[in-house]
Amino acid sequence: MISYYKKLSRFAARHMAKRWLPLNKNQGVVSFSFDDVPASACQLGAALLERYDARGTYYVCGGLTDGVEQGQQCHSVEDLRRLIERGHEIGCHTFSHTNCAEESVDFVTKDWRRNRDFFKQHQLSISGFAFPFGAYDLPSKVAASRVFSYNRITGGGTQIARADLHALGAQSLYSNTTTADTILELIQQTANEGGWLILYSHEVSATPGPWGTTPEQLELALRLARQHSCKILPVNKAIDFFRTE
Ligand SMILES: [Zn+2]
Repeated sequence: MISYYKKLSRFAARHMAKRWLPLNKNQGVVSFSFDDVPASACQLGAALLERYDARGTYYVCGGLTDGVEQGQQCHSVEDLRRLIERGHEIGCHTFSHTNCAEESVDFVTKDWRRNRDFFKQHQLSISGFAFPFGAYDLPSKVAASRVFSYNRITGGGTQIARADLHALGAQSLYSNTTTADTILELIQQTANEGGWLILYSHEVSATPGPWGTTPEQLELALRLARQHSCKILPVNKAIDFFRTE
């Protein structure tokens, strides 16, 4: 019964409470995002992006600042400050890496507020949000749409013709499971159809865990995006680009 309710709720969440952003610029856009976030994404990841004159989006849990997650050293406040100074985007990922489909809206709202207070305390501002685990249901999607300018989920490949600002799709960039062919196909499709591909990963390491990328794989995606004349923009700047008249 519970799983039936959950399936129904996920179906409703996917198909309701949408806010469409038309993608009609005849120009493909690729966004690189990192979740949680490990220090390596802020340091090595950002350096690689900048080598390609690109900037990324970092969805941060304040509860992970200065911590260790899955054996990976997490970001420091200094890492976040440096990212902002260099033109990267910082977004919210809840304070406690909360599964928003499992917790009450009241709990989730308090966790968002806690993360916002954490950012405020460090004079960092945020606007966008990524659901931890890509997990959301209709109540959390609606609640997030009232708090954040956009929400990113996981899955969905590249977005063609339009994107739901309340549930932006994203493709994982994981060295163990995302093949070079998949990256090439998605970027070709994005370029050919003027779509928007949002990639997401966690750590950037020569020996990443199952949810991380290698410097080589990240560079491959950057190189292919450039070779196919895609714009590379943080998520908030990509929205601005698609909105311009
Ligand atoms: Zn996460």
